[in-house]
Amino acid sequence: MTYPKPIIQVKDLWKVYCMGEEKVVALRSVCLEIYQGEICCIFGTSGSGKSTLLNQLAGMEKPTFGEVFIRGTSVSRMSEEELAMFRQKYMGFIFQSYNLLPSMTAVENTAMPLMFRGVPREEREKIAVQMLERVGLSHRLHHYPGQMSGGQQQRAGIARAFAAHPEVIFADEPTGNLDSRTTEEIMEMIISFARRFRQTIVLVTHDPEMERYADRVIRLLDGRIVSNRIRSGGKEAKG
Ligand code: ADP
Ligand code: MG
Repeated sequence: MTYPKPIIQVKDLWKVYCMGEEKVVALRSVCLEIYQGEICCIFGTSGSGKSTLLNQLAGMEKPTFGEVFIRGTSVSRMSEEELAMFRQKYMGFIFQSYNLLPSMTAVENTAMPLMFRGVPREEREKIAVQMLERVGLSHRLHHYPGQMSGGQQQRAGIARAFAAHPEVIFADEPTGNLDSRTTEEIMEMIISFARRFRQTIVLVTHDPEMERYADRVIRLLDGRIVSNRIRSGGKEAKG
């Protein structure tokens, strides 16, 4: 379903970490809006606040000041329980280090978000197999993460992130551990999945090469947004 208002809205967001006596201001008055179906890339050098921002957007951490709205609902004000439900319903995640459970096979890892949504076992395994086929892992269905290459693990990570069709997918340096060829394959996959169902992607990275995939480009410097622009001709992934 189309969500006409900004699917993500951030109002005057601050995050201050206290390290003993010292205060680290990781985010300074961040305001932004992201619309449904946008591929939004957030750039910045190491330490600029990218991961902190992503964690606030996904409700993993509470802001020091300000608020984050997803689909018009303040995630900053939700209880942990409400947040967990909200995340399972609307959000997917892709991590730099894949974060697959080592004791589970590719199919079991991919099926996890569906389990949280109460999809019966047979059904969720069927969907997981389909997803893994779509990311080119039909020959690795019953492999464990330790038996797969980094690129294969990240494909499984993508299958898992998209399995339950979340409206927003958050990705923190998803290709940070991959070589340039695998990076391109992984990005093409993320973009083509997202385009198919008009899902919103929020991807943070220090890699300027990622810009060509973005519809919206946001730059962070020392916890502040220094630019936020729509990029016309955002890449239409093949297929
Ligand atoms: P990036 O992801 O862009 O590399 P981060 O969001 O991880 O940057 O960090 C932004 C700043 O906040 C850095 O100065 C970092 O040291 C600090 N920071 C991040 N997380 C914490 C934390 N849990 N405690 C204290 N300082 C933190
Ligand atoms: Mg980071």
